[in-house]
Amino acid sequence: MPELPEVETVKNGLAPFMDGARISKVVLNRPNLRFPFPDQFKSELEGQVIGQLRRRAKYLIIPLASGQNMLAHLGMSGSFKINAELVEGANRKFVPLAALKHDHVVFEIEHPQKGRVDIIYNDPRRFGYMDLFAEEEKSPHFATMGPEPLGNQFSAKHLAQRFQNKKTPIKSALLDQKNVAGLGNIYVCEALYMAQIDPKRPVGDLVGKNGDPKKQLEVLAASIVDVLNQAILAGGSTLKDFKHADGELGYFQHRFKTYGREGESCLTPDCPGTISRMVQSGRSTFYCPNCQH
Ligand code: ZN
Repeated sequence: MPELPEVETVKNGLAPFMDGARISKVVLNRPNLRFPFPDQFKSELEGQVIGQLRRRAKYLIIPLASGQNMLAHLGMSGSFKINAELVEGANRKFVPLAALKHDHVVFEIEHPQKGRVDIIYNDPRRFGYMDLFAEEEKSPHFATMGPEPLGNQFSAKHLAQRFQNKKTPIKSALLDQKNVAGLGNIYVCEALYMAQIDPKRPVGDLVGKNGDPKKQLEVLAASIVDVLNQAILAGGSTLKDFKHADGELGYFQHRFKTYGREGESCLTPDCPGTISRMVQSGRSTFYCPNCQH
């Protein structure tokens, strides 16, 4: 399931083919994904020049010259494929790919340097969705969303303000998009493990009487940034090879330190513990009961 680092990697893979390109045609192979496409989806996109792709939380944002923005959420199984003139030289020519099962949307675009490019959205489980919005602050997707964990607004102090006097378990609080945007189950488990914090710990415990973050909350804020950046770095290294693999921009099986490692030895130096799994608010939490307090 794509989380923030995977969406960042997808954005970084698409940007060289989409930034500054013009959308010639949008082919919708069905009326909906998880939700119906907006009524004007095709007409708002066709003919538009694309600005600079960006990411907010787990959303990919494609700004258009009109001032509208297209938004894509990859759901559980969404992925983009790029079909472009990848071979340099005189024999370059564009050959459309045969449609595959679950290819739901095709963006035919014209890139100033790369020529015709098809960006194909495939999503077997169809939990992904696409929408249009004009202003981020007014969009229901973003209105109540907390700061980007990799942005300047995110800090231990911000978390302390949100967490003071609250009893929510830290695991659930980090998944709450109002506290911090874009964190999902995997990277919350990884960050809590790195910071050696018990996922059940009430958040108020991590805030001092004066409202300042305790040391552990500072370590946690830094760990969140670390695990995300490491995953983005790993995704970036896979991008170098992607052009040979049919242009597919997927997500990569990272090797996680705690997520999915139930019953295996804890990797913290000198910790004799074993990774356990428990269920919190319906989601699996992987943690080491020995070194996370
Ligand atoms: Zn441990």
